[in-house]
Amino acid sequence: MVVVMKTSATQAEVDEVVERVREAGGEAFVSPGRSRTIIGLVGDTLQFLEMPLASLPGVEQVIRVGRPYKLVARELHPEPSTVMVGNHPIDRKTVTIIAGPCAVESLEQTMEAARMAKRAGAHLLRGGAYKPRSSPYSFQGLAKEGLEILAACREETGLPVVTEVLEPRDVELVASLADALQIGARNMQNFSLLKEVGKSSTPVILKRGLSATVEEWLMAAEYVAREGNMDIVLCERGIRTFETATRNTLDLAGMAVARDATHLPVIADPSHATGVRELVAPMAKAAVAAGADGIMIEIHPHPSEALSDGPQALTGMDLDRLVEELSALGVALKKPVPGQAKDGKKSGVGWASSR
Ligand code: PEP
Ligand code: MN
Repeated sequence: MVVVMKTSATQAEVDEVVERVREAGGEAFVSPGRSRTIIGLVGDTLQFLEMPLASLPGVEQVIRVGRPYKLVARELHPEPSTVMVGNHPIDRKTVTIIAGPCAVESLEQTMEAARMAKRAGAHLLRGGAYKPRSSPYSFQGLAKEGLEILAACREETGLPVVTEVLEPRDVELVASLADALQIGARNMQNFSLLKEVGKSSTPVILKRGLSATVEEWLMAAEYVAREGNMDIVLCERGIRTFETATRNTLDLAGMAVARDATHLPVIADPSHATGVRELVAPMAKAAVAAGADGIMIEIHPHPSEALSDGPQALTGMDLDRLVEELSALGVALKKPVPGQAKDGKKSGVGWASSR
């Protein structure tokens, strides 16, 4: 960090900055200039961030040079992390497929979607039991009953379950029935919720906020990590821009920036990013080509009857085709979709017959 002093700063004011930095265990290097003095700080940046340096007399500006996060930064943890969700590893060597309905509407609908996901070769089942809806009059989810339905689907298909938790008080219950806790875009900066899932030993899938910068997204992950839970997967799900042709704008460059900055796996959700069924597969492929470590896709047995996000839901056949294409892409990129044949084609008993 660099502290820039005002042109009017006195020697006593410079000395005070130096003293405060030394008291905090850091080193301060003073460079007197022709018109102003700058002070270079060496030591624990995070510690300096907690100091009120900008408000000391004579200080004009404090410029941060390093990153404001530590635990999730790749700099201090060069090895890529693997996050186990149930028995499935999400890592940087493979492409994980997460599929399922937007919302758990009934046992029948979720079970059918879970079978579709399983048949297509997905590794994890998604589905919201607690739904963050823009309107309080829209379907809000089945809550605990929804979690039990997801657990029943896991029981039958063997697919570990990813589901959203909206409130700190629900974390324990959701974690007792699910294999990963999703933090939705609208809650990315709900710091009490982040701290609560940070205390859990269940993995967290952290969606990027609607208007969050990559740095804010990583800082949200740092909140979780600081409480002790390092099993975090970041999910790019589109950000708000001026464009209205799509629901959001899938920020693949931002995803790549995040992937470079952290050791955590980073996945993409082209369903919420586009909101348009026809755009989901192209954007899923683009995300994998850009390095995504996984894809989260919404599917529905009857999209036109879905209680939420029907227009972006894929059918079972759409998902079959997409997984096949992602497998071929994975082979070309040497980043396979686990469970798929090495040549990218489907194989094995059951696949042909169930298709
Ligand atoms: C979801 O995945 O169900 C969801 C609500 O997504 P997001 O938080 O990205 O809007
Ligand atoms: Mn949805």
